[in-house]
Amino acid sequence: MAAEYRVLINGELCESATRETMDVINPANGRIVGQAPKCTELEVDRAAEAAWKAAPGWAETSPTERAEIFFRMANLLRKHRQEWARLETMQYGGPIFKTLNFDMRFDAEHFEFMAGVGRAVTGATLPVGPQAMSMTIRQPLGVVGLITPWNFPLVTAISKITPALMMGNTAVVKPPSCAPLTVLKLGELAVEAGFPPGVLNIVTGLGSSVGEALVRHPYVSKINFTGDSETGKRILALASAAVKPVACELGGKNAFIVLPDADMEPTIEGAIWGGFFNSGQNCGASSRYLIHESVYDQFVEKFVAAARMLRVGDPSNPETMIGPVAYKGHRDNIERFVERAKESGARLLLGGERPNTPETRDGYFVAPTIFGDCDPKSELMQEEVFGPVVGLTKFRTPEEAVQIANDSRFGLCASIWTRDIRQGLVMAKQLKVGTVWLNQHLSIVFECPWGGCKESGHSKENSIMVLDEYSMMKNVWIDLVGTPSTPWQGRFQGGNRLDAL
Ligand code: NDP
Repeated sequence: MAAEYRVLINGELCESATRETMDVINPANGRIVGQAPKCTELEVDRAAEAAWKAAPGWAETSPTERAEIFFRMANLLRKHRQEWARLETMQYGGPIFKTLNFDMRFDAEHFEFMAGVGRAVTGATLPVGPQAMSMTIRQPLGVVGLITPWNFPLVTAISKITPALMMGNTAVVKPPSCAPLTVLKLGELAVEAGFPPGVLNIVTGLGSSVGEALVRHPYVSKINFTGDSETGKRILALASAAVKPVACELGGKNAFIVLPDADMEPTIEGAIWGGFFNSGQNCGASSRYLIHESVYDQFVEKFVAAARMLRVGDPSNPETMIGPVAYKGHRDNIERFVERAKESGARLLLGGERPNTPETRDGYFVAPTIFGDCDPKSELMQEEVFGPVVGLTKFRTPEEAVQIANDSRFGLCASIWTRDIRQGLVMAKQLKVGTVWLNQHLSIVFECPWGGCKESGHSKENSIMVLDEYSMMKNVWIDLVGTPSTPWQGRFQGGNRLDAL
């Protein structure tokens, strides 16, 4: 029988009131991995109320006390590293080399990073003249609602939970329905590590009911969301009714720009990583390749040859580079993209068919797929596929490359491959995205801010900047001379200072 998991509400691990559950399916073989509670608005209400009641007490704890719990969380995560990496792999198909070496490492380190930087945040004193002093004090927002996607299920949740709690907020987390299990396990660790009841709450259930109830809940002061741009628009619209702020990290259609002088070997390595890591299910994936016409044929030959060598198969095998995509409906959607790209006249260079090996037969796999000679305005070059499917096109000048790259409703990231760093910097300034890498793609670290512009969203994850998403600056003014200094001064005490105006 599949393991049943529990949600975390007010420090207690519990079922949903209806006792209904949702099956979590292993996309590598279609088998049930576990069952998560199918919550309703009732659990959202209980969780939001618990968080609301816990908020004043948690806000009064010192950053040092919070950091102590964070370090315990990091140690516990390391202890369970192997087991959790396997669970992550089973619930959404990410290859074990990734879940073990990236996800589980980042999960623990994120708690430690935030335990450190969260203790170093300060306010400011402001120059308002000799008669007063003014300062900013940073305060928590109260209860925050955190809604997360499946492509890095635990990493994304932790990257929101840690700054939220470190800034003194309490939280209600809503993980994705197809891959909620590691976030539910995190609830168990939170109890063990000693978070006071109500500080961290986790509810599972459908985005259309549980997610929307969380967005609308009057106790929730802010929503932080990562996911699809269309979902982001829906959440923004819902939240606007209460003028509730929403931080959004949304989709991307990210350009990988190869200039004529690029060092071809590392460029191909970066192109493979950028396009196919995590089966291309990355908001930062390089899904549009803009190649200078003088090196286009060379790039195509080497890129296709390298992609052909990617090992597609059982994600629990440490040698596997490309696992299945997260669920059947997503695989079907990607296949429809591929069919439309074929019909559009783009040249199929690799893949385009469902892999059919003993390892892939029962799962939701998509072969690495490359289309050449794509029209920059075609669907494949404009819409996010979120799978191992990429398109290539040529350009003649750096100006044209920038113009093609910027001709997108998204603005998350881009990379430029060149030995001419001056030229790279000129283009980096012109690209309308949140991150530009020179000779690198998909290097995302805690120290650097992550987040885009346009329909990719407008907030920041990671770095010290993320703390601004979870706190408000209050200005406090102190009069130093003891007498009011307004233009009306004295008028109400017999004098008439208005004469002086
Ligand atoms: P979705 O937008 O479908 O889902 C994300 C989360 O939102 C899930 O928990 C989902 O719940 C919930 N949700 C769905 N509908 C609503 C709603 N109406 N109200 C409130 N919550 C809702 O995205 P995916 O999970 O499919 O994730 C993939 C997308 O995320 C891609 O487009 C990708 O680009 C983007 N992404 C962006 C990142 C960035 O940093 N910019 C990082 C990672 C992903 P449920 O699962 O129950 O439907």
